[in-house]
Amino acid sequence: MGKVYLVGAGPGDPELLTLKAYRLIKEADVILYDALVSEGILSLAREDAIKVYVGKRRRNHSLSQEEINELIYRYVLSFPKVVRLKGGDPFIFGRGGEELLYLVRRGIEVEVVPGISSFLGASAYSNIPLTHRGVSSSFAVLSGHEPEKVNWKNYRDVETLVILMGVKRRKDIAKKLLEAGRDPKEPVAFVENATRENQKIFFTRLGEIEEDFPPVNAPAVMLIGNVVKVVKSVIDLNKCTSFTDSV
Ligand code: SAH
Repeated sequence: MGKVYLVGAGPGDPELLTLKAYRLIKEADVILYDALVSEGILSLAREDAIKVYVGKRRRNHSLSQEEINELIYRYVLSFPKVVRLKGGDPFIFGRGGEELLYLVRRGIEVEVVPGISSFLGASAYSNIPLTHRGVSSSFAVLSGHEPEKVNWKNYRDVETLVILMGVKRRKDIAKKLLEAGRDPKEPVAFVENATRENQKIFFTRLGEIEEDFPPVNAPAVMLIGNVVKVVKSVIDLNKCTSFTDSV
């Protein structure tokens, strides 16, 4: 019986892998990976490694979480080194905890290797600090997948808000935040494909977000708060699309 490594692949740029993730990807007998793991990272694998796509985007029939758990389990029974590779960090909206539990309950040895979460990549590669003296001393990271399930009042006074999986429901998220008492003039940035060659940044304000505006596509990180304009007000950022000049 082998060992499973639950590894964070970071947001896309292969140079953002940890040394440990890099070594494990190079050594793995089997790699089970998600849609958000970039090609550049997969190409580091051994030529004879078995690479299994278990993501939910590219194919019509997607595997359920239970099927993914079972698949990892079956591979580790026959191969010494199984890497379960996930975008960003395995424990941030990555269902890493569920996979860990499933495997340890079956007596499998598992090691978790953290990764740079997409929100850290988005912040750094867009020159938007998450905290900044005098502007923001707190941030929260939340899922925008089901805005009706979030208690938005909790986030009224958190200076910087970071929302993952928020593109599709961006209008509802903005509406909920305005209802909770946030300022419609608050600057917002969407960082699409953060840290990748095709990274794009869209700037707007909370009160201006619509279902199709800004015209951002997933995957993207939504950053909300005055930190968005801290650096932007001083230098003109590369590769950015600005929809509200005054931000
Ligand atoms: N475990 C991942 C998050 C998985 S949830 C992490 O730590 O980053 C999937 C969401 O992550 C996407 O909807 C998007 O909001 C965000 N995401 C992942 N990779 C991204 C990237 N390269 N650029 C922007 N957002 C990304």
